[in-house]
Order: sequence, then structure tokens, then C-alpha cells
Amino acid sequence: MVAISELRFDNRFTASLPGEDSQGTDPRQVTEACYSRVSPTPVSLPRLVAFSSEVSELLGLAAEDAESAEFVDIFSGNRLLEGMDSHAACYGGHQFGNWAGQLGDGRAIALGEVIDVNGDHQMLQLKGAGPTPYSRSADGLAVLRSSIREFLCSEAMHHLGVPTTRALSLVTTGDLVVRDVLYNGNPAPEPGAVVCRVAPSFIRFGNFEIFASRGDEATLKKLADFVIQTQFPNIDGGNPDSYVTLLKEVGELTADMIAEWLRVGFVHGVMNTDNMSILGLTIDYGPYGWLDNYDPNWTPNTTDAQHRRYRYGNQPSIAQWNLVQLANALYPLVGAVEPLQEALEHYAQRFEATWSQMMATKLGLTNLEDRKDRDLAEQALALLQTVETDMTLFWRELAKVNFELPVDEKERCAPLMNAVYRPDLMTIDQRASFIDFAEKWSARHRELGNKSVEVAVAMNAVNPKYVLRNYMAQLAIEKAEDGDSSMVTELLEILRLPYEEQPQYERFYALRPDWARTKIGCSQLSCSS
Ligand code: AMP
Ligand code: MG
Repeated sequence: MVAISELRFDNRFTASLPGEDSQGTDPRQVTEACYSRVSPTPVSLPRLVAFSSEVSELLGLAAEDAESAEFVDIFSGNRLLEGMDSHAACYGGHQFGNWAGQLGDGRAIALGEVIDVNGDHQMLQLKGAGPTPYSRSADGLAVLRSSIREFLCSEAMHHLGVPTTRALSLVTTGDLVVRDVLYNGNPAPEPGAVVCRVAPSFIRFGNFEIFASRGDEATLKKLADFVIQTQFPNIDGGNPDSYVTLLKEVGELTADMIAEWLRVGFVHGVMNTDNMSILGLTIDYGPYGWLDNYDPNWTPNTTDAQHRRYRYGNQPSIAQWNLVQLANALYPLVGAVEPLQEALEHYAQRFEATWSQMMATKLGLTNLEDRKDRDLAEQALALLQTVETDMTLFWRELAKVNFELPVDEKERCAPLMNAVYRPDLMTIDQRASFIDFAEKWSARHRELGNKSVEVAVAMNAVNPKYVLRNYMAQLAIEKAEDGDSSMVTELLEILRLPYEEQPQYERFYALRPDWARTKIGCSQLSCSS
């Protein structure tokens, strides 16, 4: 463990790649540069709301350090440490399917790369730390509600085993930030906040796209070579093949990430190419949401309500669409379409394989190679849509269905009824389809000679008991906005062990409360943050 002032920085991104010569935060087009040097804007009265002890340990900091005045000063942006090299990255992106030109870190300021306890590089980045050359007409700030959502969700995802950027800390700034939450002409002041995000790299598909769109092959090549060298050292770099391999590996990481999202019921909400990490990490937590009732057509993002481009069930194909944009961006370095096409096809194969493996484990099976098991997976997903059924509860309750006991079929199926929102409204046919599934699933496990207890243990390791349901985050936000941040800490605590029973928190292992069904902030979120 080291004191904060002893953190060691090795800023490969700024040292190896071209930066911009101009200074200041005037909005501008930044060319032939991967970043602009910029300092965080000081804040009035920084206060620590929460921190992740696992992330601070990863960085080598002791827990006491995280509660020191120095920590709050640094991670609110009031002070830079020796060795930091603060900057904002230049990137572009396709937003909702359209090329949007230069975007860049408009309100994220990277501080530098710390060498963590494992000897790996971790970029520290403050989100909401004030304007940068990429802020366009916006203020560079973030509000408490969206910062709580980012902080809690990134840590929750990590503990669920989903690849993600991490969050070290959440501080309020003491400054007010004006936002029009519903975009309906009602701007109001809200508490400002800063989250310190942590990841080996925050490079996005959009970092490549911006240089390709400008025909700036030289900077594009520098960036691609840098990413290969620092993040994909297994690839033999510097030649056209290496960029194809890069695309293939990014495709694999992305496929695995998406399968994990589907496993836990996560909907990102804004899968624009500027929000796609080159490392296959879940990045940029905005109007994301969690499925309560299983509905593949659901998206929490009100901006996307019409076309539902980023709905839960569309995420695998959107990831592919985004990879096509990355392939287009890499094309100038490869000079041939076919190998890039092959790398893209690899994504689809990888996703299929990972997805079926994932579904098998949710069902307590080894794989879906047998037709019977594939049918069971399909039947489960169809069943979840027969009546309004809670996804998290369904999978967890399925592990309670005892397939060894010689009980009546209705009794065997009983746990699954706990996942149904309105069992009183179920038709006879709907009840019969639940029983049919429970019987088929049980018969298959008996046929395989499995033991109920063992299958339940395996299933409970992949089907979480606790996820950050939308209403839970909203309750924590409402309390925190009233000055009581205890629920943020409590949720962080629960979500640390999402697969454990935690009987003291059983109240969160329940159907979404009725009041949250259509509430803003719970089922519907705007991009306002
Ligand atoms: P997002 O939809 O959050 O991924 O943001 C898209 C782009 O808008 C990124 O370039 C962000 O940096 C930028 N952006 C979002 N909110 C703000 C803000 N309050 N101030 C400056 N830039 C912002
Ligand atoms: Mg973004």
C-alpha cells in the first residue's frame, strides 16, 4: 500500500501519441492529434459520497487514504499530482446510426496512467470535471443522479463478472448544474458530481473512426499501433495483418461482453460507436437499464423510444454494426476488404458460441450441443414472454425447482410462479406452459443423472440474485439528493456479492414494485446527465 502522493504514473497514451498544440477549452476541431491537454475545473466544496475499496486496493491505496481530504481534493479535480498528465481524448462516432463527426471527451478528463498493484496500467479519468475542447455547447459537468448511476453500475457489473470500466470514487462538487431532465423546457439546478473512472484504456471505436473520416492515415496508424502494442501485445504489430487480427480480437471481446449483458439482463441504452470500448468493456453508463420483466424489445432510453435501436434483444446485432464501422475505419491500414470481412464473420460465430454456452449454464447444463437442450433454451426464453415474468427471479427460482422429488407437477413448478408479476391473471394455457417447461427441464436433468443440489449451486453462480434494478438506483438517488447517501453505500455493499443469498437484503430479491413500473428514472431515462 502506498500514500496517494506516492502513486506511480506512466503516461503511455500522452507520451506515445500526438497531442494538440493549442491550449484552452474553446470548442474546436482538433486535427492530427489524439488528445488535448486540459486541466479539471476546480470545484467549490468537494465531499466524498462513496468509494470502491476494491478499486482503491487495486491502485495500491489504503482504505484510510480514500477518506482523506487529499483524496477528495484530487478526485474532484481540485488538485493534480506530480506525474499526472491531464488530457481529453479526441474521438468521433456514429450516433443512432449516423456519423456525428468529432465528439471527444466533452466532460471526461483523464489524469494519467497509474501502475496498479499487479504492475498493470490503469488510466484514471474524472467524469464531470469541466469543459474541454470537445465540450461543444455543453458545460462539461455531470449531475449527482447520473454519477450515482455510473458509480454503482460499473461496480455492480464488475462483481457480476461483466467486463466494465471501474469506478474509484464519487464526490459531490458543492456546485449546482442546470439540467432539463425530461427535455421539456423545465431546466432546474441539481447537485454536481464527479466520478473517477478507472480502466486500462478508454479508447473507443470512435477514436479510430475520427482519423479515418478525415483521411488522416498517419495518425490512424499511430493509434492502431499503440493499441496493439499496449493492449494486445500478443499481436505481432506494424503490418496490415495486425490490424485485421486487432479487429478479430476486438470482435471476440465485444461478443463476450454482449453475451454477458444478455445473461444478467443489462441494456446499455446508447450503443453509439463512441461508447464502444476497444477492450470490450462496458463503458459510458448513461440511460442504461435492467430488465425487470423479460422483454427483449425494452429500452430505457427515451431518446430511442421510437425506433428502439438499442433495445435489449438488438444489442448483439448493433455490436456487429458497430464492428463494421470499426472495420471501415481500419480499412485504410489494411487495403483489402476480404480479410476484414472474415474478421467480422468471426464475431457472429463467437457470439453464437458464447451465447449458447451462457444459456446452457443458466439452465444448469454443460452445453447446448444436444437438440433437446437447445429446445429447452428456446422454450425458456419463449416462456419468459408468455406472461409478464421477472427475469432475475425466474432464473434464480428455477434453481429451486427440485427435479428429483416425486412431487405433483404443479408443486414442482411452484417456485417459478414467484417470478410472475400477475399470477392471478394467468390463463390455464399459460399455467400449463410453465408446468410443461418445468417438467421438461426436470426430465432432462434426471436423464443426465444430475443432482438437484449440485445443479442449483452451479446455476446460482451464473444467475444473480441481486442486480441494480432501476428502481433501486432511483431510490438511492432520491435519498442522496436529500443529503442522505447511505443507500448508495448500502447498494454497493449488496451488489458486491450478487450471487450470494444475503438474507438481510431479501427485500431487494423481489418483483419490481408497482410504483416503479412507469416512473421516470426507473423505466424511462433520458440522456440528460
Ligand atoms: P454520451 O451520449 O454521454 O456518450 O455523450 C456523447 C458526447 O457528448 C461525448 O462526446 C460527451 O463527451 C459529450 N457530452 C455529454 N454530456 C456533456 C456535457 N455535459 N458537457 C460536455 N460534453 C458532454
Ligand atoms: Mg459517451
